[in-house]
Amino acid sequence: MWKSFLNLWLKLPCPLCQRIAEDVICQYCQRKLESCRLENSQEFWQGDLPVFAWGKYQGELKRAIKTLKYHNHPEIGVFLGKWLAKSWQAHNLISPHLKLTIVPIPLHKTRFRSRGFNQAVSLGRGFCQETGYNLESEALIRVKATEAMFALNPTQRKQNLHDAFALNQNWQKHSKSTPILLLDDICTTGTTLTEAVQILRRKKINVLGAVVIATTNREQG
Ligand SMILES: [Zn+2]
Repeated sequence: MWKSFLNLWLKLPCPLCQRIAEDVICQYCQRKLESCRLENSQEFWQGDLPVFAWGKYQGELKRAIKTLKYHNHPEIGVFLGKWLAKSWQAHNLISPHLKLTIVPIPLHKTRFRSRGFNQAVSLGRGFCQETGYNLESEALIRVKATEAMFALNPTQRKQNLHDAFALNQNWQKHSKSTPILLLDDICTTGTTLTEAVQILRRKKINVLGAVVIATTNREQG
């Protein structure tokens, strides 16, 4: 009896609809999120920078990502990170015995201070809880405070992100035999991921590809 009382007491409202929920996100919102799932998550798992994406950046998934980032709900990131991991594992794109290191795309320190957390790290926590991969959230540093990307064309995006990242000099732990998987919340044109991968590859670090929770279109680079 005490247990059920405690369960009732500990239940929190769903951050997306405020209903009391059994899980981080209620069943009702989970169903709406499911409708944003891509039919072909591995479509862009090819080329120089393969990208695996869970869903489309629209509808409920877009709203969940905005709530995560702008309304201080890192638990949504952990939750979606687990979904991304389950989908990643189900697709069997690499050997199940291969251990990977997850490197989330960092925020610039001014944005990190105003937000209080990095949404890509929250996603990475969930992803690594599910897969057992190693999370290295300090590997990359964002050295340039970049402008918001949505208003920029592809050339401006590249200029905006040029030299935006650096490898953390204190990050010595990485064994070069463990391939890296970059992780970000949204992939639009792929400019951010491409810039980050170049920094790592310049240091002869093996980057397998990237995973994102949402993608905006079919023109990833
Ligand atoms: Zn809900």
